[in-house]
Amino acid sequence: MAVQSMTSTDTRDVRATCEQIGKLAGAGCEIVRVAVPDLEAASVLSEIRRRSPLPIVADIHFDDRLALLAIGQGVDGIRINPGNIPREKFKDIALAAKDRGVCMRLGINGGSLEKDLLARHGGPTAPALAESALRSVAYLEELGFGNLKVSLKSSNVATMIDACRVFSQKCDYPLHLGVTEAGTLLPSAIKSSVGIGILLAEGIGDTIRVSVTGDPVQEMAVAWGILRALNLRERGPEIISCPTCGRCEIDLPALVKEAERKLAHVETPLKIALMGCVVNGPGEAVEADIGIAGGKGSGMLFKKGRVVRKIRESEFIPVLLAEVEKMAGKIIVH
Ligand code: SF4
Repeated sequence: MAVQSMTSTDTRDVRATCEQIGKLAGAGCEIVRVAVPDLEAASVLSEIRRRSPLPIVADIHFDDRLALLAIGQGVDGIRINPGNIPREKFKDIALAAKDRGVCMRLGINGGSLEKDLLARHGGPTAPALAESALRSVAYLEELGFGNLKVSLKSSNVATMIDACRVFSQKCDYPLHLGVTEAGTLLPSAIKSSVGIGILLAEGIGDTIRVSVTGDPVQEMAVAWGILRALNLRERGPEIISCPTCGRCEIDLPALVKEAERKLAHVETPLKIALMGCVVNGPGEAVEADIGIAGGKGSGMLFKKGRVVRKIRESEFIPVLLAEVEKMAGKIIVH
């Protein structure tokens, strides 16, 4: 299960694109897609590939020349929407990709389905998306090309889920999951968690992308949160915190925000409980590697379920960071 994203920079700006790829990699991205809008962008792909710590997937629309150039530039994969490339040109791309051992992602989406499918299914429905994907898969198999991954995307979460279910019942190729045009961070987190999460829970899906309008680095926390919530993969600390209530006598929201910010770069999976009072604090701390349960201007520090000591509220963050530093073996800037 791999986490994927896409750069939002102008691909022709190699420095900016590589800088963003570096930030994405640091935040947990494992495969990155870059837009290839013109020949100039296609011609810098080898340089981006050379500098990138991540596999590069070239995102191609309409223009087969860009796909052929990208393949020649040594990218790891190309993403093609077969709905907007004529079949003959699609064939040339597939044969070139086969020749160079380049993986192809078939990106099927509701906005570019074949007219006969739209007419027969009454619009870009889940069965129409799945049938379009199966049609292109069959065409590629006839050409002897099977180095494939498929995505069936829709901005409608239920349609995306159903399309992936239908496709996966009929075909074993790896599936890339994502809800497209999902909006800014909060709406996207909700739609992606539901869409991607339901499918992953059913055992469907091989790579995921949480699409967010804005800085793509934001996508990583959501993507990894989905994987962690399903016990599929872990990365970095998980902070368990209560919603607070009338029993809370510390500034828990500020504590949690600061802890999240200061621990954002830690990759070691750790469970940290930050609780407003001792009612649930110790109980949660049994599960957690480390925990703090608030009191009046102070708190109890717990480690692996045992009370370590009482600490003042002003010590919460320094003590927490020092303990995490010991457990993660990573220097944290206090
Ligand atoms: Fe309230 Fe304490 Fe529960 Fe937090 S842990 S919600 S402060 S009772």
